[in-house]
Amino acid sequence: MIMDSSADFPNCPICGSNSWTIVHGGPVRDGAFGSLRAGRVARCGGCGVDRLAESACLPDIAYATATYRQSLGQSHDLESHFGAHDELARFTLETIWPRSLRGRRVADIGCGGGSLLDHAGKLPDEMLAIDPDPGFAKSLVARGYKWFPTAAAAAETHAGLVDIAFSVQVIEHVHDPRKFLSDIRSLLSPGGIVVMSTPNRADILGDLLPEEFGRFFFRTQHRWYFDTDSLRRCAEAAGLVTEEIKHVHRYGIANAMHWLRDRCPRGRTPLHPLDSSLDLLWRSWLETNGRSDNLYAILRRGQEQP
Ligand SMILES: [Zn+2]
Repeated sequence: MIMDSSADFPNCPICGSNSWTIVHGGPVRDGAFGSLRAGRVARCGGCGVDRLAESACLPDIAYATATYRQSLGQSHDLESHFGAHDELARFTLETIWPRSLRGRRVADIGCGGGSLLDHAGKLPDEMLAIDPDPGFAKSLVARGYKWFPTAAAAAETHAGLVDIAFSVQVIEHVHDPRKFLSDIRSLLSPGGIVVMSTPNRADILGDLLPEEFGRFFFRTQHRWYFDTDSLRRCAEAAGLVTEEIKHVHRYGIANAMHWLRDRCPRGRTPLHPLDSSLDLLWRSWLETNGRSDNLYAILRRGQEQP
């Protein structure tokens, strides 16, 4: 089904196209698993990104309120933030290997409570904590980070000075992914890089359980859904050159087996007798074949402004 632009599917901010093809007729997840609402997802005929219908997207104001975090089972309590995010920091830090953070100026765009910056330890010379939610700002500043609500605000004092900019699971939320990356680009020093991640829409579970997993994967807080090619095109449109896109799978095989058996997510719950040696094989196959749950892109400044 080819659609013209409409209130639900306006012109693509990445490539300007207004040709959209429906790829998921709904429903989509609305907060935690099990909560659903109507919402279609369509693919851009220009750059290949998928987007959620605007009428199903979570309003911006929700991101700066406790209600949003509570709807996801999160809160402004630092301990619960760290509990949810500390285990994910290692995937990001493994991605940049063998690069070192020592002596670098580092920024985390969409840092939340600062879990990733904490894991960077004392290696960087300076760390910018960038997040529109002011709920953690006081704690972030107390831990020695410079807090800014947006990359554009940080650029007023730090344009061209950041060596490594992280942005983990953020681009899928924003209004304009191209502007989002372009604003981060303005922070980068010559030779600076962006290390960013986003869910992979080619996740194997989309093939194994297209209906059930689609209702989980597509969700009201994610406007955009990328695969390798569409992420590369978005980076290019923002004046960034793709050095590398890595497929990173964060769950063991028990997660997929639970999905197939119970039709619902069970996170890292073990499933006897599946063990870590099988996890290694499963992850290796997914990452080699581009079917992981997550994409990490390492991008560097291009020569020209977009
Ligand atoms: Zn597009």
